[in-house]
Amino acid sequence: MYRVKEAFYTLQGEGAQAGRAAVFCRFSKCNLWTGRERDRARAVCTFCDTDFVGTDGQNGGQFATAAELATHVAALWPSAAGRPYVVCTGGEPLLQLDEPLVEAFHARGFEVGVETNGTLPAPAGIDWLCVSPKADAAVVITACDELKLVYPQVLAMPERFTHIEARHYFLSPMASPAEPETGQDEVRHSNTRRATDYCLAHPRWRLTLQMHKLIGID
Ligand code: SF4
Repeated sequence: MYRVKEAFYTLQGEGAQAGRAAVFCRFSKCNLWTGRERDRARAVCTFCDTDFVGTDGQNGGQFATAAELATHVAALWPSAAGRPYVVCTGGEPLLQLDEPLVEAFHARGFEVGVETNGTLPAPAGIDWLCVSPKADAAVVITACDELKLVYPQVLAMPERFTHIEARHYFLSPMASPAEPETGQDEVRHSNTRRATDYCLAHPRWRLTLQMHKLIGID
């Protein structure tokens, strides 16, 4: 059984695939937070701004088989033109994404992207793997297409991940208010400045911004 919070057609908002049309398939559940506010303070990952609880979002639901879910996702791709692209996200998609589902997406012509916190092994066949480490959670994936680090995280600074092989290394400024006395915009701007400075000092890393938030799409 696959549990999906929501699925929708949009543009990828960040990283190396930014601007690319994709069906986002947001799986329910994460292994680093329950998703309930009452548990946030004791979670491993404390800055999440995503609702991944349950299956009640847009086009969400429970799917008994890989074929059923892949067909559901395929129905959201609007056109026969261009290679369909699905981004499996969450929550933590690797709690559920398995080889049969990757194969079912491929069978419908989809390229398969995944956005993971990197703490679980990935099934074979993924076409684009984005790893985004969180706090002090141990990362088990050591090679990926892009490493996208929310910055700054006291327990997850870039130096911790230089052993991970990636085609692209991105810093994404943290958007949530880490300093309660400061406004959210001010925090974001200050984090963007800090991420910019880090990239200037360490050119292996590139800055990525959450374009979907800047232009106001999901
Ligand atoms: S790992 Fe990702 S989905 Fe899980 S709580 Fe953190 S930001 Fe949210």
